[in-house]
Amino acid sequence: MRPVVRVADLRKSYGPVRAVDGISFSVAEGTIFSLLGPNGAGKTTTVEILEGLRIPDSGTIELFGEKVERVGPAQRARMGVLLQEGAFEPYLRVREVLSLFSSFFPKSLEVQKLLELVGLEEKKKALVRTLSGGQKRRLALAVALVGDPELLILDEPTTGLDPQARRRVWEILEELKGQGKTILLTTHYMEEAEALSDWVCIMDHGKIVAEGTPRELVTSLGMASYVEFELPLEFLPELEELFPGCVRQDGEICVISFSDLNSGLSSLLSWAQSRGVALRHLLIRQPNLEDVFLALTGRRLRE
Ligand code: ATP
Repeated sequence: MRPVVRVADLRKSYGPVRAVDGISFSVAEGTIFSLLGPNGAGKTTTVEILEGLRIPDSGTIELFGEKVERVGPAQRARMGVLLQEGAFEPYLRVREVLSLFSSFFPKSLEVQKLLELVGLEEKKKALVRTLSGGQKRRLALAVALVGDPELLILDEPTTGLDPQARRRVWEILEELKGQGKTILLTTHYMEEAEALSDWVCIMDHGKIVAEGTPRELVTSLGMASYVEFELPLEFLPELEELFPGCVRQDGEICVISFSDLNSGLSSLLSWAQSRGVALRHLLIRQPNLEDVFLALTGRRLRE
């Protein structure tokens, strides 16, 4: 598959802050590509460079197979953009917002089709101010789709949404991918990157610290299984002694990684039995992207 976006050694500093510090990646046509990282990792700066909103200090950019010195109208006409923050006129109706944005394009998708795509048909006459957070985000997504773009660049498309609204956006993105669109999104939700992406670049402090398919990234941790349960803090030192280097405490939750689940679990249960400790809400799970980030940086994605 040909790359729709390709960047090499991209850099951008704000004074002493190296927001983007020499990153390279490419986004294959018809795929969902995620930049995953905590606040301040440099995700927004990266996508804003690709959107032509910021000028990089150095690096090369290829869009739609052509090298570009400066992202301009020719490239922007082929992309749809969802900014991290943005608001529409609260006293316009949903349908009016879409008609307004359609009028900016020589050729645009029909308003009705856009409403259907993002599931807002029932709200077409509603004032923007009466929409829920999820509906506003879907309206913003519809606006990004007005020009029927080949490439969608979505900066944190689901931040602040409840789980149901988030899933609704995921379904729409899957559908858009099914239509052949290429999607580059940023997120700090590891579940989002895991559920949607064909390829994930994990960013931290302006650099890409790991990349791959979600599965590849997770299996890079080895064959570990994770056991989680609620543990009163006073017992933590005992477990750290019993399973050195494998225990971490996350609030009230204790997480232990076992390379041999059978023997690890049976030692844990024997310890709990002998100490009379109830392992409340015990859960066994496979590693996820949060574990990958933690293993690479020693920090959580959302601290
Ligand atoms: P978030 O998820 O919080 O949006 P991010 O990964 O998108 O974070 P950026 O917004 O690109 O990260 O910010 C990267 C770094 O650059 C941060 O340290 C941020 O404070 C800094 N930064 C971003 N924009 C500016 C600016 N206009 N002026 C100065 N510093 C900036």
